Amino acid sequence: MNLIFLGSPGAGKGSLAEKAVKELNLAHISTGSIFRSAIAEGSPLGQKVQAIISAGKLVDDETTIDLVRERLSQEDAKKGYILDGFPRTIFQAENMKAFSRVDKVIDLEIPDSLVLERLANRMVCRKCGHNFHMIRNKPKQDGICDLCGGEVFHREDDEETAIKQRLEVYRARTAPLIEYYRKKGMLAVVDASPTIDKVMENFMAVIGR
Ligand code: AMP
Repeated sequence: MNLIFLGSPGAGKGSLAEKAVKELNLAHISTGSIFRSAIAEGSPLGQKVQAIISAGKLVDDETTIDLVRERLSQEDAKKGYILDGFPRTIFQAENMKAFSRVDKVIDLEIPDSLVLERLANRMVCRKCGHNFHMIRNKPKQDGICDLCGGEVFHREDDEETAIKQRLEVYRARTAPLIEYYRKKGMLAVVDASPTIDKVMENFMAVIGR
């Protein structure tokens, strides 16, 4: 099963994908995480995208499409995948048809008021990508991931100015994908406001599990 997770920043795509891939034995492919790892390594890709990501803008389509095409050709993606954060433009969606077939698109819906609260308090593990919340879901030991012991940090693009920019970019470039996939009969909407366990339950129901 090949799935796409759509939804604004902070909708919980990464947290749901982390849970869902375990349950369904799929590969979790997050373009944002791949870019963040490249930045941490200081690779040519990382150097190219660092300033763009900090500013809350989108990496260019060509770079992103090449990255996903290559990632989907890897062995583990053959069992099926959840794409978390791709496609983010109609151009990306049109282009990926040439190298992969998607079964369903899940749109995680959440009001803006919740987005701001979630992102401003979000902490992420640099090693495994697990998300924490500084108030409701703190790591047991400050700055250290409960799951893998990696360093937990606050993303630079989770600062207020970048959050606003990312929400604008989401509305202008990514939200049109909702109608795009709805018209193709591929879209399922999941309310992403409740707790992660409830969102997971709703997600499993819409994919018929
Ligand atoms: P995310 O972790 O999904 O919030 O992504 C973090 C950042 O990575 C985004 O704000 C973009 O700058 C970049 N990014 C991730 N996925 C894409 C994509 N599909 N197209 C362009 N830029 C992306």
